[in-house]
Amino acid sequence: MAGRILVVEDDTTIWRGLHQALGAQGYEPDWADTGAGALVPRSIPPDLVLLDLGLPDIDGVEVCRRLRALYPQATIVILTARSDEIDVVIGLDAGADDYLVKPFRLAELLARIRAHLRRRSPDADLETVSVGALSMDVGAHRVFVDEEELELRPKEFDLLALLLSEAGRVVTRERIMHEVWDEHWFGSTKTLDMHISSLRKRLGPTGDLITTLRGIGYRFEKP
Ligand code: CA
Repeated sequence: MAGRILVVEDDTTIWRGLHQALGAQGYEPDWADTGAGALVPRSIPPDLVLLDLGLPDIDGVEVCRRLRALYPQATIVILTARSDEIDVVIGLDAGADDYLVKPFRLAELLARIRAHLRRRSPDADLETVSVGALSMDVGAHRVFVDEEELELRPKEFDLLALLLSEAGRVVTRERIMHEVWDEHWFGSTKTLDMHISSLRKRLGPTGDLITTLRGIGYRFEKP
């Protein structure tokens, strides 16, 4: 199975197009046309959620926040017709992993979905990485600080895994955007800054080990 995708979209024309395209790619599309409908718990959690921010009932950002709590492991991609950058920033802060501004090309959306779901699939070669108080079981998708498990969003996890795999060395912004987000990223790298900042918060004092090299990238310091 290629993945279960929940589309939260009140525009039936967009939904019909997406339903057909996602089905053709082997995904299992599910649909909600309201925020309330999106928040009805699914017995099998979605792997990825495409969330339109302009919904008829509940504010899309609030729906995003609640979906993040409901499905901590799902990748959330917000779709916004509002070109206002503030919506994107608020959406990312509310737990989204990525965003697309409408109108978007279907090929672009499918490429993003592929990249996101590929990152999620377990890799048998990956193992446990430990630096100081922090340890990551990459295969099992678990992170511990001083034996206490942390809940990270999918992109925070991927970002931390990359920084840890290069602990003590700088990882450039370009490499992070390429490896964690998309192979063909042309958009803003604000997403990266938002995720670094939330990752630092979640890691607590260990977050101080992430050093910013302004305009260059980030380095996870070996304590
Ligand atoms: Ca809408």
